Amino acid sequence: MISPAGYAIWASMEFETLIIGAGAAGMMCAAHAGPGVLIIDHAKAPGEKIRISGGGRCNFTNLHASPQNFISQNKHFCKSALGRYTQWDFIDLVDQHGIAWHEKTLGQLFCDHSAKEIIAMLRAEMDKAGAQLWLQTEVGEISHNGSRFSIALQREGQTRQITAGNLVVACGGKSIPKMGATGLGYQIATQFGLPVITPRPGLVPLMFSDEKFKPLAGVATPARVHAGDTSFDEAILFTHRGLSGPAVLQASSYWREGETIKINLIAGGDLMPALQGQRQTDGRKALTTVLSQHLPARLVDHLSQEIALTGNIADQSDATLAALCDHLSDWTLTPAGSEGYRTAEVTLGGVDTDALSSKTMQSKTVPGLYFIGECVDVTGWLGGYNFQWAWSSGWAAGQAIAAS
Ligand SMILES: Cc1cc2nc3c(=O)[nH]c(=O)nc-3n(C[C@H](O)[C@H](O)[C@H](O)COP(=O)(O)OP(=O)(O)OC[C@H]3O[C@@H](n4cnc5c(N)ncnc54)[C@H](O)[C@@H]3O)c2cc1C
Repeated sequence: MISPAGYAIWASMEFETLIIGAGAAGMMCAAHAGPGVLIIDHAKAPGEKIRISGGGRCNFTNLHASPQNFISQNKHFCKSALGRYTQWDFIDLVDQHGIAWHEKTLGQLFCDHSAKEIIAMLRAEMDKAGAQLWLQTEVGEISHNGSRFSIALQREGQTRQITAGNLVVACGGKSIPKMGATGLGYQIATQFGLPVITPRPGLVPLMFSDEKFKPLAGVATPARVHAGDTSFDEAILFTHRGLSGPAVLQASSYWREGETIKINLIAGGDLMPALQGQRQTDGRKALTTVLSQHLPARLVDHLSQEIALTGNIADQSDATLAALCDHLSDWTLTPAGSEGYRTAEVTLGGVDTDALSSKTMQSKTVPGLYFIGECVDVTGWLGGYNFQWAWSSGWAAGQAIAAS
C-alpha cells in the first residue's frame, strides 16, 4: 500500500516492548526486558554519548555512587533503582565481559582502552536477550488504545506501523543537539499528561558578559566552588568565555540565572600563616611574587586589578593580609549565563518523578508507559553518576517488564 506522501505502508508489526532511544538507559533496558523487544534510534549508531564520554574511555560508574550524588525535586526517587542495581552490579557485568578498567580519581571508573567496549558489551547483552535494533529510524505519531501503543516509525523511506504493549522512553535530554539530542521524551510525557520539570543545562561551563577572563584562558587551579547551598572541591579552569573545570561544572548544576557563585581559591591550605612566615623570611619580595607561589601567576595578575596587591610582603600588616585572605576565600562572581545545551553534559529537570513508580519507572496513570535515564528528573554529579542512573533505571524498567 502507498501513503499519500508516497511511502509504502507496511502491515502493522507487533512487539511486546518498544524502546525509543538506543543510548545507555535504552540498551540496558533492552538487555533485561524479556522477549519481543524492539529498540530504535534515529542515529546511525547506538550509544553515541557512551562513545565520546570520558574522553573516549567512558567514566562508566563511580565507586561511591549513592542517592546523595543526584539532583531531583524528589531526592528519594532514585533510591530504589540505585539500591537494586548498584555500581557493583555494573562492575560485575564489565568484568564478565573482560573489559579492563581503572579508578582515575574520586571513585571514577574508566575503561583502560575504549568506551566502545561498553557499547559492544551492551550490544552483546541485547543480542543475548534477542532484542531487535533499528537505527536511523524516526518516531512519528504515537497513540494508546488503553491496552497497546501504536507508533508510526519512518525507516528506509517507509512508514512502519508498530504496536507494543509497553513503550519505554529512553531518548535522553536536550544536551548536545549535534549528537542527536531532541527532547522527544518531554513531548511524549506531555502528550500522555505527565508533568515535566522545566529542563535546563547541567554540568556546563559558565560565561561572563565581559571578556575579563580571556587573558587567563588555560589557567587551572584547585578551588572550592559554592553555588546555592552546595560546594565542590576540585579544579577550576579559566576559558576564553569564562569558567569551566570539574568544580565549576559540578556547581553549575546548582546555579540559577542571576545568582552569584563564590570561589575559595585557598581552600587547600592555610594561606595566612604562610604569608606571615614569608613576611619574616622573604620580606623584600613583592606581594605579587609571594602570592604567585600559592596561586597561578596570571591569576594573581588578574586579582591585582580587583584588590590592591602593591608593595613588598614586609609592608603588609596582619589586617591587610587578613583582608587579602578573605577576598581570596570568598571570591564572588556573577555569571552572565551558561554555555547552554551546546556543551552541557546533562539536562537537569525532566519527567516529574511524582508521575512515575520509583520501583519500575512506569507511569502511574498510563499502564505500560516507562521513562528511564536522563529524560527523568534525576541528574547525577560529574564522575560516572549519570551512567549509573542510566544503568539502574534501565535495569529497573527492564526487570519490571520481563516480570509482567
Ligand atoms: C560529552 C559528554 C560526556 C559525558 N561523559 C560522561 C561520563 O563519562 N560519565 C557519565 O556518567 N556520564 C557522562 N555523560 C552523561 C551521559 O552521557 C548521559 O547522562 C547518558 O548518556 C544518559 O543516558 P540516556 O540513555 O538517558 O540518554 P542518551 O545516552 O543520550 O541516549 C538517548 C538516545 O536517544 C536517541 N534519540 C534522541 N532523540 C531521538 C528521537 N527523536 N528519535 C529517536 N531517537 C532519539 C539518541 O540518538 C540517543 O542514542 C556525558 C555526556 C556528554 C554529552
